[in-house]
Amino acid sequence: MSYVSNFKPLSSKALSIEPSATLKVSAKTKELKSRGVDVINMTAGESDLLPPRWLLENLKLYSSKPGVNLYKPTAGIPELREEIARKYQKYNGINYTKDEVIITIGGKHAIYLALAALCNDGDEVIVISPYWVSYVEQVKIVGAKPVILETDSRNGFIPDINKLRELVNAKTKAIIVNSPNNPTGAVYPAQVLKGIFEIAYTNGVYVISDEIYENFVYEGDFISFASIDEKAKNMTIVINGFSKSHSVTGWRIGYACANKEIINLMDSIQSHISSGTSSLVQYAFLGFLDHYEEDVKSLSVFKERRDYIANELKGICSYIPSGAFYYFIDVSKFYNGDIKNSVDFCEKLLDKKLLSLVPGVAFGDDRYVRLSFACSMETIKEGIKRLKEFFEGL
Ligand code: GLU
Repeated sequence: MSYVSNFKPLSSKALSIEPSATLKVSAKTKELKSRGVDVINMTAGESDLLPPRWLLENLKLYSSKPGVNLYKPTAGIPELREEIARKYQKYNGINYTKDEVIITIGGKHAIYLALAALCNDGDEVIVISPYWVSYVEQVKIVGAKPVILETDSRNGFIPDINKLRELVNAKTKAIIVNSPNNPTGAVYPAQVLKGIFEIAYTNGVYVISDEIYENFVYEGDFISFASIDEKAKNMTIVINGFSKSHSVTGWRIGYACANKEIINLMDSIQSHISSGTSSLVQYAFLGFLDHYEEDVKSLSVFKERRDYIANELKGICSYIPSGAFYYFIDVSKFYNGDIKNSVDFCEKLLDKKLLSLVPGVAFGDDRYVRLSFACSMETIKEGIKRLKEFFEGL
């Protein structure tokens, strides 16, 4: 008899949630590595680059400043909210004010706050598949229902606007858009974003636009959803953060921009759930705009990595990502007696070649596995070598 069985059942909503597959497999791989196992980790989207020097200096500087240790406004320190608004004016052509910005515990928490601010029980939220693992689970946590819009590698994982139109109904509250996309690397062209905007606008539906990979675009242009039309700003909750662009995944700092009413609701929820993110980390980012172009330039190594893999995987993976830092590889032709699905594939690969990838089932498509190239060229070379050897042995 289990300890809790004498008691009332635990939350059925909580029990219906899957833990984050990306974080689980990445933690498991790091643990193997810490035990001295020669495992190659191409799981989580976590950059191997060091945070910029100015940022580390700022962190040190502010750590001893009086008052930095104390509570700050729950929506974030006004100076940084203001600077984020200026970033959008300067680089994205959107005129946010600081009151239209909230600073959160990473982009992930910003998405959760947005969903919590928008959704009532039974609302529907359209999620484009393959999707990042946490969207579907977060939609469920807030009591809404995820409705999946499938995409296909033959169309470059770009959503079909007509299919989207068919899914929208009176219960639809929001559409989650993620371009550049995790896990596929697709970057949606302007006309597709416009198509999504028109459907959402006509139906009074919000768009949560996860733009965390803004600075990782290798082909095409990054377009912030809120800039697609002058009416888009008010119905869009733009999600972004510093984790990927400044290699600070563990510092937990993200943000959202939206109209003031939505931001106030998100702030109200944040004030009860967490009181906001670390004050010190927020101060450390003051002045980030002065270094922005230089910091973005340092990310150009990701294009070299992408190109190297494209060349090595010719004939194995025909879809080359235009953005983000993942390859989403169809391995279903290798499914047989031993390997029946993406979890089996990843387990065998880890077992036989000590290479760790994330099973595609976590992103809504069991035919695929996700390979992150947010790791050093040395790791990539060894990882790709092991992957090719594994394919050859199948
Ligand atoms: N977003 C990254 C990934 O997909 C980090 C892990 C996570 O939060 O899911 O790997």
